[in-house]
Amino acid sequence: MKLISARTAVLVALTVLLVLGLTVFLVQYVNHAAAWAQHPSNRHFYTNARLNTSGTIYDRHGNILIQMVDGEIRFNEDATVRTAVMHATGDRGDNVETGALLVFRDRLTGWNFFNGAYRFNNKISPAHDLTLTLDANLCARAYQELNGRKGTVGIYNYKTGEILCMVSSPSFDPANPPDLQSYPESYEGVYLNRLLSATYTPGSVFKLVTTAAALDHLPYIMRKPYQCQGRTQIEGNMVTCLTAHGQVTLKEALAHSCNVTFAQIALELGADRLQEYAELAGFNSSLEIDGIKTAVGKVDLARATKAELAWAGIGQFTNTANPLNFMAFVGAIANDGIRVTPKILADKNVFSSLNDTENKKELLSKETTATLKNMMRNNTLTVYGEHNFRGLELCAKSGTAEVGAERKPHAWFTGFLARDDFPLAFVVVIEGGGAGSRAAASVAAKILPVAIGVN
Ligand SMILES: [Zn+2]
Repeated sequence: MKLISARTAVLVALTVLLVLGLTVFLVQYVNHAAAWAQHPSNRHFYTNARLNTSGTIYDRHGNILIQMVDGEIRFNEDATVRTAVMHATGDRGDNVETGALLVFRDRLTGWNFFNGAYRFNNKISPAHDLTLTLDANLCARAYQELNGRKGTVGIYNYKTGEILCMVSSPSFDPANPPDLQSYPESYEGVYLNRLLSATYTPGSVFKLVTTAAALDHLPYIMRKPYQCQGRTQIEGNMVTCLTAHGQVTLKEALAHSCNVTFAQIALELGADRLQEYAELAGFNSSLEIDGIKTAVGKVDLARATKAELAWAGIGQFTNTANPLNFMAFVGAIANDGIRVTPKILADKNVFSSLNDTENKKELLSKETTATLKNMMRNNTLTVYGEHNFRGLELCAKSGTAEVGAERKPHAWFTGFLARDDFPLAFVVVIEGGGAGSRAAASVAAKILPVAIGVN
């Protein structure tokens, strides 16, 4: 009996060890398998230390953006398309962090968790192919409209989250890369995807956030007349408008981007409330676009003085915004307060991304967004000019973000189409572009008709 129980004890101990070992292995496997499979020593995927990706990356209409055959990359045949989508696809040197070649390489190597590597007899399985939500021709047009200026254009469907246009300038033709070092100024930040990975002072587009907070928490806001003499002094700090706007309602103040009124509204809201709405709008956090994290735009009013709070309410002070994250907030205004997280992978891919509940978030009430929408429509009708945006049902806000006395301000224009057949939100940022209602708005006026197939 004694012998048997001793043996039992040994067996139990061995079993426990086996189970422990298996558990450790499984945990490691779950966490690191993709990395192991893609380790350069795995010849299945690598030849001469280069990732042996094979497969094709398509745009939403089936246009080939990049094709890989045994590690060789072939690009789209149109140089403008190649250049315009370079930040979405990546380049040969893997310098662009947001490029599909890098971000989705598990999928392109044909590795997956359940089947391991499945690259049989050198034949490409359909799972190697990726379809992006982008429209290559729309991207090319947007890149052309930026016309060499640094900045970004983003357009997405605020109901489905699909990003149709993602363009960042400067860019270069990845099939014929120029000597980037010889022109450091022209190619400054060339590998940066400015839509996803940059932040800028938002300027007056931020007034949408201040307006949302005011609509929810200042019960008198729609009735109160504000007075603008063209300037106001807050704790010895001068806040100015381009012109004296006289007596204005909130709606008029938004349309004419009256700094004096918004400075006053920020003070009426207080720092905590404005901070709360900035965070609701997506500041101080990033969005995840199929695994790509956007840069974090910041608003920090914890120790703001009254004058600083006033400047923050008009989108200055230390506020910064990520263009895509802000576009998603504007999309939420269009979509009855529900923000649908933008995405770059089309649904038809074998590996789908987030499910429906994960990618939706209620930011604002239906009532608040209805009023905001109405005001943004009024901006177009009374200031930006319906004739520039005919048929688009455009709701928009411009911004001219001051970035110091020596530099020209950044031009912003963001908004959406209030059309059920084309539920599109957009953002245009031009670095040093000057007035948002001119420089950035004119790019939007050219590119939005293309997005709905009119031009
Ligand atoms: Zn004013």
